[in-house]
Amino acid sequence: MSDLFSLQDKGVVITGGAGILCGTIAEDLAAAGAKVCIADYDEFRAHELAKSIEAKGYFALPIRLNVLDKKEIQEAFVCALDSMGRIDVLINGAGGNKKEATTSEELSFFDLPAEAVRSVMDLNFMGTFLPCQVFGKYFAKEKRGNILNISSMSAFSPLTKVGGYSAAKAAISNFTQWLAVHMCQTYAAEIRVNAIAPGFILTQQNRFLLTDEKSGQLTQRGRLILDHTPMKRFGTPEELCGAVRWLLSEASKFVTGVVVPIDGGFNAFSGV
Ligand code: NAD
Repeated sequence: MSDLFSLQDKGVVITGGAGILCGTIAEDLAAAGAKVCIADYDEFRAHELAKSIEAKGYFALPIRLNVLDKKEIQEAFVCALDSMGRIDVLINGAGGNKKEATTSEELSFFDLPAEAVRSVMDLNFMGTFLPCQVFGKYFAKEKRGNILNISSMSAFSPLTKVGGYSAAKAAISNFTQWLAVHMCQTYAAEIRVNAIAPGFILTQQNRFLLTDEKSGQLTQRGRLILDHTPMKRFGTPEELCGAVRWLLSEASKFVTGVVVPIDGGFNAFSGV
């Protein structure tokens, strides 16, 4: 059973790897024996995380990259391959929403700045698409590989307020299916492409929507989410790790083109 889920010596590149969710995933994969490359815009946090992973006796390589710059992605790819000797997995974790692209009492849909919405679309969708081109080309040559994208609950049914973010994550789910088919049909059946759709996990990107900045109490939106979550709680970053190990290992060898919700039942519940 442990062989089935083994990630020993796999080379894993994680964009947005210094972030809350993907940082936790990086720590978990390193502890499972993988060599992890933490590829993030935030060089300082990437180095700090790599240091703390190395201090535990595991392998971690920090690399600064902007997922919107194909040349930088190419350079990061070469550097990761040089240091790790092989790359088996790409996790596209860089993404997120921003306040300026979110409707509120102060900011109506009609006044949402195009730049803000465009940057959310770009970071999430193009920030997934471009690394898939660079690493996908290598996987095509090797005739094996595993890509994991990060979608969201907002991809299944759009969430109120976050129209741009919902559209971007829906694009990621759709692209995950497209690329899974394309890689199988055009290059090799051993190249898999899947996504996870984390449910509601309190992090920087959503804290301002789910809790009151001053009191820390749940906002009306936070309460609505818990009412709609059969498990009646938010998730934790650690709760993503089991599904990630499954999708990256031989245990899911016949699985490609799926988006796995990890959401305490939110997506399954109609509300009635
Ligand atoms: P986070 O902000 O903690 O992490 C995102 C990381 O991406 C950061 O380290 C940031 O420096 C990096 N980044 C930003 N722009 C970049 C760029 N251009 N190039 C390279 N790196 C860049 O966010 P998180 O909450 O850990 O979310 C991680 C992913 O999970 C995102 O795609 C997010 O949309 C998705 N997600 C989060 C939740 C949640 O509840 N937090 C739910 C569903 C999906």
